Amino acid sequence: MTTLTSIAASLPAFDSQDMSVDAVHAFLDRMIAPVTDTESVALTDALGRVVAEAVISPINVPPHDNSAMDGFAFRGADLAPGAPLLLECVGTALAGHAWAGEVRAGQCVRIMTGAVMPQGLDTVAPIERTTTSDDGRIAIAADTIRAGANRRRAGEDLMQGGVALAQGERITPAALGLLASLGLAQVRVFRRLRVAYFSTGDEILQPGEAPREGAVYDSNRYTLFGLLARLGVQVVDFGAVADQPDLLEATFRQAAASADAIITSGGVSGGDADHTRALMQRLGDVAFWRIAMRPGRPMAVGWLDRDDAAAGRCTLLGLPGNPVAVMVTFIAFVRPALQRMMGCKPESPVMLRAVCTETLRKRPGRTEYQRGIVTPAADGSLEVRTTGHQGSGVLSSMVQANGLIVLPHDAGTVQPGEAVQVMMFDGVI
Ligand code: AMP
Ligand code: MG
Repeated sequence: MTTLTSIAASLPAFDSQDMSVDAVHAFLDRMIAPVTDTESVALTDALGRVVAEAVISPINVPPHDNSAMDGFAFRGADLAPGAPLLLECVGTALAGHAWAGEVRAGQCVRIMTGAVMPQGLDTVAPIERTTTSDDGRIAIAADTIRAGANRRRAGEDLMQGGVALAQGERITPAALGLLASLGLAQVRVFRRLRVAYFSTGDEILQPGEAPREGAVYDSNRYTLFGLLARLGVQVVDFGAVADQPDLLEATFRQAAASADAIITSGGVSGGDADHTRALMQRLGDVAFWRIAMRPGRPMAVGWLDRDDAAAGRCTLLGLPGNPVAVMVTFIAFVRPALQRMMGCKPESPVMLRAVCTETLRKRPGRTEYQRGIVTPAADGSLEVRTTGHQGSGVLSSMVQANGLIVLPHDAGTVQPGEAVQVMMFDGVI
C-alpha cells in the first residue's frame, strides 16, 4: 500500500518541513488516484460531469453538404471572371425538404439556410447579393461570389469516427450541445465524487445564532460549500465540531465511511486546543505540512482508515482555519486534487498578465497570493491593484477581488509598473 513516507521517498529532495507550492503539487499528483467507476447518464444530467471514455462520432456533422445562407444555389463552374451571371430558377430547397430535381448549367435553386445542397451544386449566392432581371432570371453581379462560397460541407464540424470528446473532459454547455448534435441521448461519465466537509473549533457559531463573547461565525463551511459545489462534487455537510476529541473522532469516522474525501478547516496549526492534529494522525496516515506560501501555511494531508477496511482509505485535506487561507489553499491544492480524483484533466485557472499599480512587499522563499482587482487601463492593457489589507482573515477582500496576484517563490518586492501574473476567479470561486 502506498504510504506518505513512500511518496516522499520517491520525490527528489522532498522536505516536509517547509514545502514549496510546487513540491506540494508534485506530492498530491502522486498521492491522489482518480475514481474508476462509471455510469451512463442522460444529457441533462451530464452538465459538469467528466467524460469516462472518449466519445467517437457515429455520424458526420453536418450529415450532408448544406447551405450556409438563404439565397440561390448554382454551379460554381458557371461563374466567369469579370462577367455577371444570369440564372434560371427551377425550384426551391428548404431545410428538412431537399430539392431532388436535376439542375443544369445556367440554372439555380432557391435555397434556405440548412437545406441540403441539390446534386451537382456547390455555390450559394446570398439573396441580398442577387437581383431579379426583367425576364425573371436571377442576376449576380460580376466578381461578387467565389465558386464554393456559402456551402457547409458534410463532416466539417465532426467526421464520423472522429473524437468528439476526449476522456477526462468536463462536460460544458457546449459539450452537451455537441453530444446532442451526434444524436447521442446518454454519455458515460465517471461516478460523482462524494466530498465531506466540516469546520472545527470551540469558538465557531452558526449563522442565526446569537453572538457570544469570543466567538466567530462559521464562514468556512459556506465558502467550502460554494467551492465544492462549483466543482460539481456531491457534498456531505458534517457541520461544525467543537475542539473535543471524542466528537471529532466520531465525526471523522462517519465522514470517512460516507465520502471519498474529507475537507476540514481549522485545528491543523498545532495550537493548544488543536486536538484535530493528534486525532487525524491516529486515525490514518496523515502528514502536517508547513507550506512556503502566504496565506495558508499549515495543511494536513493524507488518508484516514475506514472502519470497513475493505472499503479502502479516505483522502483527507485539512485546511487552515483562517477564512482567506481556506480559500487560497482550496484554489491552489484542493481543487486540482479533487479534479484529479474526479478523473478530470487538470483545468488551470485563467492567468492574466497585468501591470501592477502599487508596491507589493514580498520576500523571496515563499509563494504569495494577494487579492487583486484587475481592470482595463485606458489603452486597453490590463492593470491590477490590491484590495488593500491582506490579512488572512479579511474575507471581504476575497469578495472585492477578481483574482489572486501570484508572486512566485523566488520573487522579491514588486515595484509599480512591473507586470505580474493574476489567477482569475471566474468559474473558480
Ligand atoms: P485555527 O487554524 O483553528 O487555529 O484557526 C485559525 C483562525 O481561523 C482562528 O482565528 C479561528 O477563529 C478562525 N476560524 C477557524 N475556523 C473558522 C470558521 N469555520 N469560520 C471562520 N473563522 C474560522
Ligand atoms: Mg481552531
